[in-house]
Amino acid sequence: MKKAKYIIRKINVGLAKSCKKARDINVLSRIVLWVAVVMIVVALGVLVFYKPARDAVFAPSEIKTVIEVKSGDTLSKIFSGQGFSIRDIDTISKTLKKDADFTTLRAGSDKIEFVKPAEDKPVSKVVILNGPWQRVEISCGETGDWQCQKVVIERDTRVAYKEGEILDGDSFYLAGMRAGIPAGILADVYDLLAFEMDFERDVRAGQKFSVVYEENYRDGEKVDNGSVVVVSFDALRGNVKMYRFRKSDKTVGYYDPNGNGAIKSLKRTPINNAKVSSSFSTRRKHPVLGFTRAHKGVDFRAPTGTPIPSAGAGRVVARGYNRGHGNFVRIRHNGSFETLYAHMSKFAKNVKVGTTVKQGQIIGYSGSTGLSTGPHLHYEIIKDGKHVNPMTVKLPAINNLDAANKKKFLEYRETLDKAIEQMADKPGSFIQM
Ligand SMILES: [Zn+2]
Repeated sequence: MKKAKYIIRKINVGLAKSCKKARDINVLSRIVLWVAVVMIVVALGVLVFYKPARDAVFAPSEIKTVIEVKSGDTLSKIFSGQGFSIRDIDTISKTLKKDADFTTLRAGSDKIEFVKPAEDKPVSKVVILNGPWQRVEISCGETGDWQCQKVVIERDTRVAYKEGEILDGDSFYLAGMRAGIPAGILADVYDLLAFEMDFERDVRAGQKFSVVYEENYRDGEKVDNGSVVVVSFDALRGNVKMYRFRKSDKTVGYYDPNGNGAIKSLKRTPINNAKVSSSFSTRRKHPVLGFTRAHKGVDFRAPTGTPIPSAGAGRVVARGYNRGHGNFVRIRHNGSFETLYAHMSKFAKNVKVGTTVKQGQIIGYSGSTGLSTGPHLHYEIIKDGKHVNPMTVKLPAINNLDAANKKKFLEYRETLDKAIEQMADKPGSFIQM
């Protein structure tokens, strides 16, 4: 019995002990629970109060609305949509014209930013973002009148170097793209080389070329490309090289290594990148007539509707139709040179006899009118009344350098050549302009 009592006591004690233990656990878990509740409350507090706190610290109290200018938009339409009165719009457009020389918005590229100090306040500042290198700021002055200011964003211009080689079955365009020359720069290069090169006969596999051009940066990021600085092409007839140079009167032109004007009064290839399908010849079997006769011009392959630019500045002296040429335009450039463009599908709207045209101005569109086997441009250069080969005739330069500018050019060229040598040695390097 004694033993059994003992056992019971022991059990009781054990029970009591475990109860106490249970009570202890209960207290502990309550503390844990309370801590958890406090933590949750704090966390919720942080969640609830943190956001407004952050807004108050980081978000500007002013409200910005950005409008992208779309086709058909006008300044007054956009401004009235933002609550501007007709009087204010009138004042602003006058100020814009007077102080910022700003008259037109460009759809698809310009943006207008309207800034309010608070939601219930009227617009106090407007920024017209027109292009990557400038903006116009319009603000409401102390006296309540609108003031505007043109802000020019400084560009950090670097000069990059790219070189390439024509491969078998290649075109200069493909080789240029492969060399990493941006498409816009390549188009400019074509424009320049078209004064000196025949892309059909002067381009062969193994020829090397190089292009030096400007890249514009803002805050370390590339924004766009600038001008072609130097172009060099090892053509069949020898190296063609042109340098961009600013004369003392600030005008810019392209010159050959000796400082002779590289921009000629006429282009040998009016349409950039057009392939020659038939060359100038004193004897050729005519594709339509069948018999042999002189081909007094050069034929360039061009799908119907390709714009035809004038090879040089001049005046339209003939625009009409004849059986051989189809629709044609003839332009007189100076005392001795004329050019003729044939087989056009149509004429440019505003080009008539007597119209003065600029070099590169579109005068019509290619086609296959007259004696023609397919759409192309037949291009003639007439010198002192005689047909000459557009690809070989010596053309006068538009712009030659006087002695002082020539001296400056030759010094500049030497510096540039040294820089190019360094860039060619280290691909990917650039020079700061
Ligand atoms: Zn022809």
